[in-house]
Amino acid sequence: MALSGHCMCGAVTWTYSGSVTRNLVCHCADCQRATSSPFTAFLGMRLEQINWSGDITHYESSPGTFRGFCPSCGTRLYFRSDKWPSEVHVHAATMTDPAEYRPDAQVLMRSRAKWLDRLQSIPAHDGFQQAPKRR
Ligand SMILES: [Zn+2]
Ligand SMILES: [Zn+2]
Repeated sequence: MALSGHCMCGAVTWTYSGSVTRNLVCHCADCQRATSSPFTAFLGMRLEQINWSGDITHYESSPGTFRGFCPSCGTRLYFRSDKWPSEVHVHAATMTDPAEYRPDAQVLMRSRAKWLDRLQSIPAHDGFQQAPKRR
């Protein structure tokens, strides 16, 4: 399998040739905080089969756990932990075609945002909501 991706500004790119080890959605509190989002989605990749280009800044979010991001645009790129030394978890949203992503597991459900249960019943718009409701 050949996959590729990039950050928002394009300064960092990645290519991967190999089998994906995980396709998981993470609901943990650290991912929520780190990505400023209710959850994030990862592709597990073998460290020696991914090629990065561009400068990446690392943040050690807990001992032995590193989160990489583009220092120009701030896009989150990956999660890596000493717990899984041969793997890197790349944020699926950075894929060249994120529509190709097929998650097959959700993890850390205990910290899943409660309002996600209501997602199907929240009014939805194709474009950005034009006129927010006045209260
Ligand atoms: Zn960037
Ligand atoms: Zn997480």
